[in-house]
Amino acid sequence: MKEMISVEEARELVLSKVRALPMETVPVLEMVGRVSASDLASDIDISPFAHSAMDGFAVRAEQLADASPEHPVELDVIDEVPAGGFFEGTIAEGQCVRIMTGAPLPADADSVVKYEIVDVVSGDGKPGGRVAFAAPTKQGSNVRAAGEEAHAGEVVVRAGEVINTGGVGFLASCGIVEAPTYRRPRVAIIATGSELIDPTETPTRGKIRNSNSAALAASALAAGAIPHIMPICEDSFEKLREQVALAASEYDFVVTSGGAANGDFDFIKKVVEDLGDLLMTTVNMRPGKAQTFGLVDGTPVFGLPGNPAAAYLGFEMIVRPALRKMQGYTHFDRPVLKAHLATDVRKKDPRRIYLRSTLTRGEGGYVVTPAKNQSSGLFGPIQRSNCFAIMPEGKESKSAGDVVDCVLLDVSEEIAL
Ligand code: AMP
Ligand code: MG
Repeated sequence: MKEMISVEEARELVLSKVRALPMETVPVLEMVGRVSASDLASDIDISPFAHSAMDGFAVRAEQLADASPEHPVELDVIDEVPAGGFFEGTIAEGQCVRIMTGAPLPADADSVVKYEIVDVVSGDGKPGGRVAFAAPTKQGSNVRAAGEEAHAGEVVVRAGEVINTGGVGFLASCGIVEAPTYRRPRVAIIATGSELIDPTETPTRGKIRNSNSAALAASALAAGAIPHIMPICEDSFEKLREQVALAASEYDFVVTSGGAANGDFDFIKKVVEDLGDLLMTTVNMRPGKAQTFGLVDGTPVFGLPGNPAAAYLGFEMIVRPALRKMQGYTHFDRPVLKAHLATDVRKKDPRRIYLRSTLTRGEGGYVVTPAKNQSSGLFGPIQRSNCFAIMPEGKESKSAGDVVDCVLLDVSEEIAL
């Protein structure tokens, strides 16, 4: 095992140890944001029949070939077709049919002229009246063709596609009311630390609220997983060993926070080594270089650092991609935007630094402002941030105006920038 690996190596390692979970079939409404596990085909043509895209008059374009403002073409309105109805007669020379949006195009017609540009000569434009056209029209004008989107039996969604809200409507039109996807991973979340108390309690001397479990559960939910917050585990090798073993046997993925470094009461590395295979301990990132990963009876166990920002970053950069792979996603990189630094940033630590920052649109492009307080012990700056600005490995400082990469938070990996 290499001592310190890069964020990319860490991500590759964890991704290589997980695969898509078994499939489950769910109602299409529950498919929003999820991956289709198979090709999906429509049972009918979409649209099922050629229909009008406007309220107007159905004609054959050649009837209006010579129409002009000086010499309008007049036609008798012989019938009216509402949406849901149909016209079965024939349209002779000198005739047209009044038609509503969504109504099937009469077999004899090839185009629709919208109401607004048709003059009423007699009657009120309804059957029995006469209307005048002052311009020609084109075949197919204001007509939506049958099968323009898909034909019956044709695949409309490929396996691997992520269904969006519009896609749910698309599937509904294709008669698809449920679809196969990959099961959501069930994630056990264990906070370790003898100083921790539940957020419902008020800390007494030396105690702090367990905020990591809440944030990690929220991040797991945002990654599409099903989090389960386990009881706080005190700093004891035996207790942690017991909890991790239990969690690994009952869940698809185990995430712990705290006790990942080399302190006297840091046990996660030893526990993973004892229960299974320890595969990683240190990643070249700040905050959060103590990132532990291993397998316990084949279940991935990830030991995040205890400092809130470090735990959050480790989850975001390394755990989240794995939870997504387990759900069949194939994109793992959050969108990255280049932005001009609003302030100078001095760099003394050679690790890659992720600055909790706010990205705004400025006149000469995007501007990124790092949060004043970059303490890894705080969640507040993350609440007020919308990106991580990256200071690359090495000791090179940057000045206001320099361009840096910014990883967007809470923006889907499917969006390429
Ligand atoms: P550790 O990684 O266990 O050395 O913890 C580093 C720092 O993070 C310490 O100040 C801990 O008190 C704090 N910390 C550890 N776990 C949590 C947690 N679940 N919620 C909030 N802070 C924590
Ligand atoms: Mg600790």
